[in-house]
Amino acid sequence: MYDLVIKNGTIIDGTGSPGYVADVAVSGGKIVRISKGIDGERVIDAKGLIVSPGFIDSHSHADDAMFEYPDMIEKTEQGITTSIAGQCGISLAPAAEGMNIVNGFGNSRDIFSSFGEMARAVRSLPMGANIMSFVGHGSIRKAVIGYDNRKPTEDEMSAMKALLCDAMENGAVGLSFGLVYTPSCYADINELIELARVVKSYNGVISAHIRSEAFALVEAVEELLEVVKTVGVKAVLSHHKAMYKSNWGKVGRTLKMIDEAVNEGYDVYCDVYPYTASHTTLVSTVIPPEMRAMDSSGIIGLVSDRAMRRRIKEKYTEIYGPDLGYIQIAHCPGYPAYDGLMLDEIAKQRGQDPFDAVFDIIRDSQGDVYICKFVMCEEDVEAVIKHDRAMICTDSSVVKDEAVYHPRLRGSFPRAFRRYVRERKAVSLEEMVRKCTSMPASVYGLSSKGVLKEGYDADICIFDADRITDKADYSDCRQRCEGLEYVIVGGGIAAQNAVYTGSKNGGFIKGHQ
Ligand SMILES: [Zn+2]
Repeated sequence: MYDLVIKNGTIIDGTGSPGYVADVAVSGGKIVRISKGIDGERVIDAKGLIVSPGFIDSHSHADDAMFEYPDMIEKTEQGITTSIAGQCGISLAPAAEGMNIVNGFGNSRDIFSSFGEMARAVRSLPMGANIMSFVGHGSIRKAVIGYDNRKPTEDEMSAMKALLCDAMENGAVGLSFGLVYTPSCYADINELIELARVVKSYNGVISAHIRSEAFALVEAVEELLEVVKTVGVKAVLSHHKAMYKSNWGKVGRTLKMIDEAVNEGYDVYCDVYPYTASHTTLVSTVIPPEMRAMDSSGIIGLVSDRAMRRRIKEKYTEIYGPDLGYIQIAHCPGYPAYDGLMLDEIAKQRGQDPFDAVFDIIRDSQGDVYICKFVMCEEDVEAVIKHDRAMICTDSSVVKDEAVYHPRLRGSFPRAFRRYVRERKAVSLEEMVRKCTSMPASVYGLSSKGVLKEGYDADICIFDADRITDKADYSDCRQRCEGLEYVIVGGGIAAQNAVYTGSKNGGFIKGHQ
């Protein structure tokens, strides 16, 4: 007898092949049989519904899930059965004592001096879904050099490599760069190349939040591709986009650059979340990296000084223009009343110049301010999503409190199907499933996931292709999706009608084993 039989569904197996009607039998956490006429005691009737592999969140900041929020509610309730965390240069480990661990993406009570130590601690923790993690270049650099804006010494480079080797040996999927965030942004290309060589020697992956997603976007992609071509390492360009109006359309060029690299034999991908607003920190948006050469206490001094305020404003205006009207405060623990408000509105309320309002808010909140930035265009988002090396992601953490966040927290995957398959008809249903399943599985070496096939893990989504819809928006990011009937993790039902069941069949997965 089987543990569970999913009957009469249309199977879209994740490979891009056309759907077909069959039954799926699950036992011991695995898909054991796919054929017609399978019977069992415990049956889900999936007639008229799509049965696909569980979604793999190719770019996630769910690092906190490992110790703080193991339910992974926001993930399972939108169909995500595996998340790839530790992105943008920021991982839970290594972390030096007394330092803000997941800089910009929340904190953890646990401090691990190496990825290996963390991997051992998380190894047997049951979780609502699966998680695999990069080791963050920023985390490694911070542990060795702190926030110094300089090249590493030879000894420091050896210490960074030792931490990287430890991570790769203990299940890190690869090394992530966050080249707009301190201190990852202080690395020159030689440092990236030297560390990428170590990753390559373990057959790992590099991912990069590149140095610019705006005015120097093309140059930033060139830098990443130079690392790829020098080292031959597999790479993922993180949350690919072009920010600010004068840069819209540049993704046409950068996607061609990816195509050219692929044609030359290099293994390059990108990930994308299906929204025109990004989510980031107010500090990294307003203060240029060269003036940010410090930890949060340094930032407070910077924005408290009148002359520095003037310089930051001048520098910002020179690059981006005088407008801050595209910024929405998403989450600001220091001023919870501002959550969800546009910055212009806040400045008006305070009777202040918008820049002074920004500096005061950063100062009073110790730099702990998250924003949504409405700076992309629909055409670019769609062009990236359509690209045959683009994977869908949330770029989202799990949420810590009642904060306003970004609708991608709960909406990314359902939105990809609603908007780009059903409404825009930009991508076929089978191809969208592939972007959410087998493509990330193959990029990240998840050899038993991402495809509905006998012998594979029973991570499964059952949804109505005509109804699957994101409900979360910028005023309420917590709304659950609709049309996603079942999410199965390791053979157990993790969410039903987008409500988490409390099941904990997931856990930490080691990469490259
Ligand atoms: Zn990023």
